[in-house]
Amino acid sequence: MGKASRDKRDIYYRKAKEEGWRARSAFKLLQIDEEFNIFEGVKRAVDLCAAPGSWSQVLSRKLYQPAKLSAEQRDGDLPLIVAIDLQPMAPIEGVIQVQGDITNARTAEVVIRHFDGCKADLVVCDGAPDVTGLHDMDEFVQSQLILAGLTIVSHILKTGGKFIAKIFRGKDTTLLYCQLKLFFSMVTFAKPKSSRNSSIEAFAVCENYSPPEGFNPKALYHLLEKVGSPSGDNDLDCSSGWLEGPNKVYIPFLACGDLNGFDSDRSYPLPSNAEGSAYQSLDPVQPPIAPPYKRALELKKALNQGIQDIESLSIGPSSSSL
Ligand code: SAM
Repeated sequence: MGKASRDKRDIYYRKAKEEGWRARSAFKLLQIDEEFNIFEGVKRAVDLCAAPGSWSQVLSRKLYQPAKLSAEQRDGDLPLIVAIDLQPMAPIEGVIQVQGDITNARTAEVVIRHFDGCKADLVVCDGAPDVTGLHDMDEFVQSQLILAGLTIVSHILKTGGKFIAKIFRGKDTTLLYCQLKLFFSMVTFAKPKSSRNSSIEAFAVCENYSPPEGFNPKALYHLLEKVGSPSGDNDLDCSSGWLEGPNKVYIPFLACGDLNGFDSDRSYPLPSNAEGSAYQSLDPVQPPIAPPYKRALELKKALNQGIQDIESLSIGPSSSSL
């Protein structure tokens, strides 16, 4: 699909470039905020799985930049925003970047160190694995990212704080809802207008963090190691029937974002400028600086140029700093 064609078929892709967002996902967080007012009173925020950085941009524009401009804040504390991803990302004003794997306990420790003993008001996680198209598999890997997010949350989120996480709707959604309800008094599954109906993604909006009394966050590290291990306990197996009958929960999905706003599943004609000339398609605001598909593109280019000895080329996968 060419840029101009995508501009027409994906209004949020076009709007993202026009408004300076690195990815169309920015609108998902903005629309969640329209419904849930998630940024109110936030001084410390964590963006898990942040690259290429449009959610971090939203955090910077909503939290850091207004505080920096306001005179009384100039000498005071500015909001602290920490962003983590496996991939490196270009800098964003007011955002501390950590390159690492959120499923690794060491990454959680790095984030905790940045908060210097203080707790976060908001943790957002837009993490997604490279989808395989096998829904069960994708949903499972996605749930591992949420579990990793929850592990970090359990260490750094203050009581009463909020956690927003991307989920894949599937057969285990009920289980996930019940698990999140153990930690938050209010959990809503939201579908922003900028998220296509054809996509299985939705967002868990978890409010008022209130872990069970006596809860030990270290238990979640243990869980992360156990899930997927052949010798691991099977107490999370929802096929065993315990979520049936009165235990079954029907979860409403709340649409959010202006209902008269742009529909992500529709095509829109491209606008022409004041002089009536054709729309000029814009380049992406900030292409990923080391995407996982970089090596494949370089190999394809080398083959197209007739370079046979591709092993001798000095191209390799990007390295992670954690
Ligand atoms: N919210 C981002 C934005 O607005 O620009 C987009 C996030 S993108 C959909 C998903 C990201 O999750 C990718 O950049 C990927 O590298 C990251 N990711 C996937 N698994 C991860 C992991 N285990 N640890 C850290 N990041 C991970």
